[in-house]
Amino acid sequence: MDLSQVRARLEANEERLSPFAARTTTSKGRKLPEEPSPLRTEYQRDRDRIVHTKAFRRLKHKTQVFIAPALDHYVTRLTHTIEVAQVARTIARALNLNEDLAEAAALGHDIGHGPFGHAGEEALAECLPEGFRHNYQSVRVLDRLERQGRGLNLTFEVLDAIEKSSKAREDIFAEGWGVPVTLEGQVVKVADAIAYVNHDILDAVRAGIIEERDLPAAAQRELGTSHSERLNALISDIVEASWAVTGTGRETSAPVITFSPRVAAVTNELREFMFQRVYLYDTTRQEAERGKKIVQFLFRHFVANPAGISADFSLATDPVERRAADFVSGMTDRYALRLARELGCADAQGWVT
Ligand code: MG
Repeated sequence: MDLSQVRARLEANEERLSPFAARTTTSKGRKLPEEPSPLRTEYQRDRDRIVHTKAFRRLKHKTQVFIAPALDHYVTRLTHTIEVAQVARTIARALNLNEDLAEAAALGHDIGHGPFGHAGEEALAECLPEGFRHNYQSVRVLDRLERQGRGLNLTFEVLDAIEKSSKAREDIFAEGWGVPVTLEGQVVKVADAIAYVNHDILDAVRAGIIEERDLPAAAQRELGTSHSERLNALISDIVEASWAVTGTGRETSAPVITFSPRVAAVTNELREFMFQRVYLYDTTRQEAERGKKIVQFLFRHFVANPAGISADFSLATDPVERRAADFVSGMTDRYALRLARELGCADAQGWVT
């Protein structure tokens, strides 16, 4: 039995995808060429590499919105990532796009997030002269830092989709950090927003910060009033409004992933509501400020004491600030908190997680 028949069959199946879908056979490939796997396409292989990293495992103890959650039902960076992958796969499959590429990029998109969610990101952005963005850090972790500085040698399309998965506050589809070159990358970008707006509503209700009935009237009217209704409405709208990407119409140039104008408007309104009422809410903000101070304390500590930086999470040839940022951003909330407490950081004392 020649196992490489399996990959040949999987690649032949990809020929049935939309003419606008990404195919492993036309991928721009990896920086270092590798022998193909007999059993998996290149994007399946990328997905597996991401899931087997230490950085992926650490997502389970990293904050999504509610810091170092003491309650078991809050979303963590890991459960958020799994929801994004699920939403992205549903949309990709419905539009006859490459589900494996969408899944690989979704699973890797937040791997560069530091401890304490966006507070950690803000903290490091203030420390590093070149700034700090989690999407660039996700690429850096996967491409440079994992496997003792050798990186995972992922395909161009997966890294591109991860780098461009971030969104500007004012509009989900604003260019922000660039438009992904593949439609699957565009799917991941929107799947991220669909997942977080919805699970953050649930968490904010759970935390007693908002009630379902506080949500903007237009969102309740257009998207429904429960978690499943909202998710279903958003995913269905994306599929319907982006139908041209299936290639079943007359388009000759690549169409885009989009919401209908009506749903785009209510989704942006809902997102803005979440910024004002949840993400920038006083209690969330006070916790965030505390998380930020802990991250900056640790950064300064390791710049002053570089011998403590793990060789596993930094590159010896980099400047000390970069090495400290790579090390600290890799930490989970609870590891950062414990370490800062041991090192005498005042903000880390008495914070139970
Ligand atoms: Mg995300």
